[in-house]
Amino acid sequence: MGIASNLQKYLEEIGGSHCKLVAISKTMPEDLIMEAYRAGQRIFGENRVQELVDKQVKLPQDIQWHMVGHLQSNKVKYIAPFVSLIHSVDSLKLAGEINKQAARNNRIIPCLLQVHIAEEETKFGLSEEELGQLMEDISISGFKNIKIVGLMGMATFTDDEDMIRREFRQLKLMMTKAAQSFENELIELSELSMGMSGDYRIAIEEGSTLIRVGTGIFGARH
Ligand SMILES: *Cc1c(COP(=O)(O)O)cnc(C)c1O
Repeated sequence: MGIASNLQKYLEEIGGSHCKLVAISKTMPEDLIMEAYRAGQRIFGENRVQELVDKQVKLPQDIQWHMVGHLQSNKVKYIAPFVSLIHSVDSLKLAGEINKQAARNNRIIPCLLQVHIAEEETKFGLSEEELGQLMEDISISGFKNIKIVGLMGMATFTDDEDMIRREFRQLKLMMTKAAQSFENELIELSELSMGMSGDYRIAIEEGSTLIRVGTGIFGARH
C-alpha cells in the first residue's frame, strides 16, 4: 500500500458526497508530500507555522495550504500571503490579526471557527456560548479581509463510535443554528471540518465537508 492507493481509497469513500480530503502532512518530508501531489492531491494541512512556511516555499505553488493547528496572533503574518484556509480561529484577537495581515496582502482569507466538542479537556476550541459571542463580535467588527466559512471540531479520542457520532452531530447542529442566526458579508457558513484517520467515516456520514487525514495517507508519524 502506497500513498497513491491510500489517497484513492479515501476519494472512493468520499464518493459523491460534498466532502474534500485535506492531507495532513505535518512532520512528513517533502518527498512523501510530492508523492501525494503526483497522485493528484492538492490540499495539504499543517499545524505549525514554521513548517508550513518552509514547505510552501519549496513545494509546488498550486498546492492549497490549510492551517489546522493552534495559531498565535504574532505568527499570522508569515502565512497570510498564501494560506488558503485557517481551520483554527478561536478568538476575536486572532480574527482581527488575520484580517489585518490579509489586508496587507490584498487578500480575503477564509477561516473556520474551532469549536470544542470533545469530552477531553483542552485549551483549544470555543464552547457553544463562546461561539455565539464570537460570531456576534465578528459580525459588527467591520473586518473586510476575512470570511468565516464554517466550523471545525475534533471528536473525543475513543472507540465509542456512538459518542463520536453524537459529537459530530452536535457540531453540525451548531453550524445549522449559527447559519440561521448569522448571515452577513463576513459570515457565510457552509464548511464543516471534522473527521481524521480514526473517525472520518462517521464524520462523512454526519455531513463533514473537509476530512483531515494524516496517518491514514502517509503512515505513522515519528
Ligand atoms: C494531526 C491532525 C490531524 C490528522 O490526524 P491523523 O490521526 O493523523 O489523521 C487532523 N487534524 C488536526 C487538527 C491535526 O493536528
